[in-house]
Amino acid sequence: MNIQTVGVVGAGVMGIGVAQNLAQTDHQVILVDISEDILDKAKHEIRNNIRFQGFFKKGVDVGVASRREASQRHRQENSDGVIEKIEFSTNYKILENADFVVENVTEKWDIKKQVYSLLDSICPADCVFAANTSAIPITRIASVTKRADKVIGIHFMNPVPMKPMVEMIRGYHTSELTIETAKKILAQMGKECVLVNDSPGFVSNRVLMLTINEAVFLLQDQVATAEDIDKIFKSCFGHKMGPLETADLIGLDTILFSIEVLYENFNDSKYRPCSLLKKMVDAGLHGRKSGKGFYIYQ
Ligand code: NAD
Repeated sequence: MNIQTVGVVGAGVMGIGVAQNLAQTDHQVILVDISEDILDKAKHEIRNNIRFQGFFKKGVDVGVASRREASQRHRQENSDGVIEKIEFSTNYKILENADFVVENVTEKWDIKKQVYSLLDSICPADCVFAANTSAIPITRIASVTKRADKVIGIHFMNPVPMKPMVEMIRGYHTSELTIETAKKILAQMGKECVLVNDSPGFVSNRVLMLTINEAVFLLQDQVATAEDIDKIFKSCFGHKMGPLETADLIGLDTILFSIEVLYENFNDSKYRPCSLLKKMVDAGLHGRKSGKGFYIYQ
């Protein structure tokens, strides 16, 4: 399958990164979200990110190799050239000729469900849908479409343009052809994948979300400060970021929604969200994207 036009639905933290990465690797991109304001903000963020200090200003440790790669890439292109490859729209109809769609909307089943039925009614029958979800089972997502064989999970890592590996999830009906198509577009984006079977949270987030939630319990129980919790993971285990810094990068709302998905899907109390996490989300402390989470950002 020849992939020319890629739809990216949802222009938040992940949609912005996916659209940028696709445009930087010569794809024609259509970025869809629900308001012009959000799309304007996305355009601005993409410009800033291409001037890649954006990532470093925020203090994200993406490693020396990525830094070198990013600076080489920066020399080769300018932000206008990348932006020109992206069409920004609030109208789903614009996706009627898309070859491939990457969905990145809010991690809420009610929202995803509506988005997939809409996409299914608009996109061509052979268009592949890649769900960039943190925890929602791919088989469930596929069930609201009439193309279950063409629905796959591509769990991108954040920040997308800097992360060379993704977790790919095979839903119950996902075909081999869909897997090959998804691998092809990932290769074009400069990425490799680890293919896993479908289960809520897959491999990465079944572990990571529990770890983060437990780290928030530690903070709530006043066992240690946020800085010391993170320091233990960085200094003792050699992790690049601690669990609370990671939570701020992902977005505390996304963490809460993901742990809620795990809780609902497994019916297991070990996934109950920490009340401090709920309170912080209610208070608008969503991490980096809101300027404040466990830490404060400029
Ligand atoms: P976000 O809150 O930053 O962005 C979500 C975007 O979806 C918002 O811009 C919102 O306006 C948009 N949206 C909501 N309803 C919509 C609709 N009906 N149509 C179009 N757009 C709509 O969230 P995010 O962090 O970008 O997460 C997006 C998805 O990616 C989630 O499923 C999340 O679990 C997953 N994910 C997140 C991360 C991460 O590190 N943040 C990593 C991997 C996967």
